[in-house]
Amino acid sequence: MQLRFDEATEAFRSKFVAWLDANLPAPSTTGERPTSSAGVPSWSRAFQRRMFDDGWLVPGYPPEHGGRNAGLSEQMVYFEELAGRHVSRSLNPQGLGIVASSIIEFGDDDQRRDYAIPILRAEITAALGMSEPGAGSDLAGLTTRAVPDGDHFVVNGQKVWTSGAHDADMLLAFVRTDPDVPKHRGISALIIDTDTPGLECRPFPDLMGPDHLDFNEVFFDDVVVPRRNLVGDLNDGWRICTGALAHERAMLWVLWSEGLDTSIADLVRCVGDTPLAEDDVFLDRLGSLLIDAEALRLLGYRGLARLQRGLVAADQSLLKLMGSEGQRDVALLALDALGADALDQRKGTSVFQPWGANRGDASWFDRFLNSFAGTISGGTSEIQRNIIAERVLGLPRG
Ligand SMILES: Cc1cc2nc3c(=O)[nH]c(=O)nc-3n(C[C@H](O)[C@H](O)[C@H](O)COP(=O)(O)OP(=O)(O)OC[C@H]3O[C@@H](n4cnc5c(N)ncnc54)[C@H](O)[C@@H]3O)c2cc1C
Repeated sequence: MQLRFDEATEAFRSKFVAWLDANLPAPSTTGERPTSSAGVPSWSRAFQRRMFDDGWLVPGYPPEHGGRNAGLSEQMVYFEELAGRHVSRSLNPQGLGIVASSIIEFGDDDQRRDYAIPILRAEITAALGMSEPGAGSDLAGLTTRAVPDGDHFVVNGQKVWTSGAHDADMLLAFVRTDPDVPKHRGISALIIDTDTPGLECRPFPDLMGPDHLDFNEVFFDDVVVPRRNLVGDLNDGWRICTGALAHERAMLWVLWSEGLDTSIADLVRCVGDTPLAEDDVFLDRLGSLLIDAEALRLLGYRGLARLQRGLVAADQSLLKLMGSEGQRDVALLALDALGADALDQRKGTSVFQPWGANRGDASWFDRFLNSFAGTISGGTSEIQRNIIAERVLGLPRG
């Protein structure tokens, strides 16, 4: 059996490759590694803007929103080309992949003009305010309260894990607007400018070290938000919320498979012709990861084929689970195999390029620590396993 894309899709790929060849900035040799979007170099913002203005940042969107109506196969080869070059499209992944796409889909023209397009053009950055101390996997249990009052809402409560909120210009926050109906039905989505009085962001460090301040607690103390900042209808936030998560999963789909491939290639390059290259135990583990990566790619193609036939691609949870845990397992193998060299940035990922806030030189140890993020954000591995058990395998609910 031969698997290949049709001629039109390959022509689309060639067009994009030609654009990348002409526009990709030279790789950074300084090893600069921004720890927040405020620290992202201006050329990185300029690159994102050029991508948008030339119709390559969000090719699946219609032209009026900066895209070129690319179909699913075209988007797939687009992401393959980006991932194969380690190119992250944006310094603000949540802003691009979730906030802007939600506003484009569910917001009004003013919100698209004032928020979505500036996010896409890297003029402003956005954070996503979903999780709370008591609401993560069970997101519908969120309690941050927004009380309608004339032409505005008054918001009180707290969010947590809000990536990049401390240097974001706005939040897309999911808030409870009706506490007296079943929990999914009383949620709304609000755009909240981060300089609004009463809003306080407190960054806190993660596993990556004390200088890596990307997570935030966000507190709301009588924060007044104009009614025009309501995205979609009042109490219709759950539809936007699930739409936003679908955007996140769609965004991750190809990237997991390509990411796993490139991580394995990085490890093979690091091992080179050292004695490890002849070590049976190492080769056995590497072979197993290569098989997983191939299975992941084929599952991705099967999901794509199903979507194109109008069927639901329930395999997305499987892709997310295998991709995120596969990244962790490659990093773990690198730690076991390379020993102290796994702490050395230069022996980690010299091919990584800091196009955006999440890219930069990283040792294999950094990559191992960072790999846990993928197994939690966008739905934890346990939640993915529940979904696979119930919706893919048809097992009874636990
Ligand atoms: C890198 C990263 C970036 C993030 N960025 C953002 C962001 O920008 N905005 C935002 O709002 N949130 C963000 N999050 C938060 C993320 O969405 C939550 O961490 C995630 O949804 C899990 O919620 P929780 O942390 O409250 O864990 P909990 O839901 O409390 O889960 C705790 C543990 O219990 C397990 N568990 C829970 N329910 C079940 C169940 N039904 N069956 C089996 N096991 C279960 C979970 O798998 C987990 O191991 C980010 C997280 C990470 C890691």
